[in-house]
Amino acid sequence: MGFVINAVIDFMYPPRCSLCGHYCADEEGICPDCLSQIHYIGRPLCIRCGTPFSHEFATDHFCGECLTGKRYFSKARAVGLYNGLFRKTLHRFKYQWRHCLATPLGTLMAKRMESFFSDGTYQYMVPVPLHPRRLRKRGFNQALVLARILSRTYHIPLDRNNLVRTRWTQSQVGLSERERKDNVRGAFAVLQSARIARRTILLLDDIYTSGSTVDECSKVLINAGARKVDVLTLARAA
Ligand SMILES: [Zn+2]
Ligand SMILES: [Zn+2]
Repeated sequence: MGFVINAVIDFMYPPRCSLCGHYCADEEGICPDCLSQIHYIGRPLCIRCGTPFSHEFATDHFCGECLTGKRYFSKARAVGLYNGLFRKTLHRFKYQWRHCLATPLGTLMAKRMESFFSDGTYQYMVPVPLHPRRLRKRGFNQALVLARILSRTYHIPLDRNNLVRTRWTQSQVGLSERERKDNVRGAFAVLQSARIARRTILLLDDIYTSGSTVDECSKVLINAGARKVDVLTLARAA
């Protein structure tokens, strides 16, 4: 009976690609044509921060910044470069709250997660928090929406209210790397350290730009006793 009802619904409302609107039977909600336009990030890349390297035959190694500067996360990875169609999609998801994009984007992230973190097991997933004022304005936290999907897929519990923003920060858009670092310094706190003590954590966000936000969050988590923090984002600044 359910089969018949689904067939009728499909006939009346054919499933469409959430990005281009064309017919798409794929249950993930993004058509193969749109998926092929994403610049997926693969090797060779920086072992620590995930910066992709262009030379074709090089192996993974540390980038200059990770060699000289301190990073609190162990490994950061992103699904694709923040450009073209992917950029447009993420922008719509974040600023226009296109609800239909949540599942396809979360599923895409979950799929890629396996290839990046096959060696990792996590006790908690933690989304990068928004300041309550920004949350009221936007109506949802895009990192939490994605984290929920990953948490369900991998049966890793979500620790959603423990890492918080304690200070209002201006948008990072248009700031230099130095300014970004200063802007987020001291902006986060962990409410219950005991909960994450000695735990391995996967921190989730939508976009990795200079890495200063996720690194500041990682710092606070490590200082609160976490054993290791890895980072996964949907996109990475191109
Ligand atoms: Zn499409
Ligand atoms: Zn690096």
